[in-house]
Amino acid sequence: MIEIYVGLGANLDDPRAQVMQAIDELALLPQSCLLAVSSLYRSVPMLLPDQPKTETAAQPDYINAVAKLETALNPHALLDELQALERAHGRQRDGRRWAARPLDLDILLYGNQQLDNDRLRVPHAGIAVRNFVLYPLAELAPQKLQILGVGKLTDLLHRCSSDGLEKIAS
Ligand code: ATP
Ligand code: MG
Ligand code: MG
Repeated sequence: MIEIYVGLGANLDDPRAQVMQAIDELALLPQSCLLAVSSLYRSVPMLLPDQPKTETAAQPDYINAVAKLETALNPHALLDELQALERAHGRQRDGRRWAARPLDLDILLYGNQQLDNDRLRVPHAGIAVRNFVLYPLAELAPQKLQILGVGKLTDLLHRCSSDGLEKIAS
């Protein structure tokens, strides 16, 4: 079994309920065991580099969390399962990056493996700079965790502002 972390995010169709339901579904993944779940957080939507700031208002806020699991699924089989869950929650991809969605499930860490291929980049490409990933991750992962090719979790956390991020009562 490999220890993995999955980032959850939703900002459409009752995002909090989407995330809560997805947590229940992660607990039912084949060959896997849900070990822990972070608090829920509310975050402001990310802007693409060329997007004007006024456009954050065009998307609802996100609800985010991180889940820790053990799995015997290989990384691609795990991604297949997560994408099937996204689809079951009504996720549609129209090619636009960071578009509003009822559910996003990203593999943040897969043991201490590094992957970089057509379908998967692990550790997740945004892990170093996303407060809605780092703060919930730090609730579950050891503070001394070294993220391969990225750095030490505590250092990343110290460098990452919590602006726009709010822990919400569960
Ligand atoms: P971001 O990855 O920046 O958070 P996103 O989650 O909105 O953006 P998606 O539309 O969910 O992006 O996924 C686009 C593609 O990213 C997926 O089809 C998948 O193949 C690929 N991908 C690469 N690395 C990962 C990963 N670690 N976890 C999930 N998907 C990944
Ligand atoms: Mg994502
Ligand atoms: Mg994704």
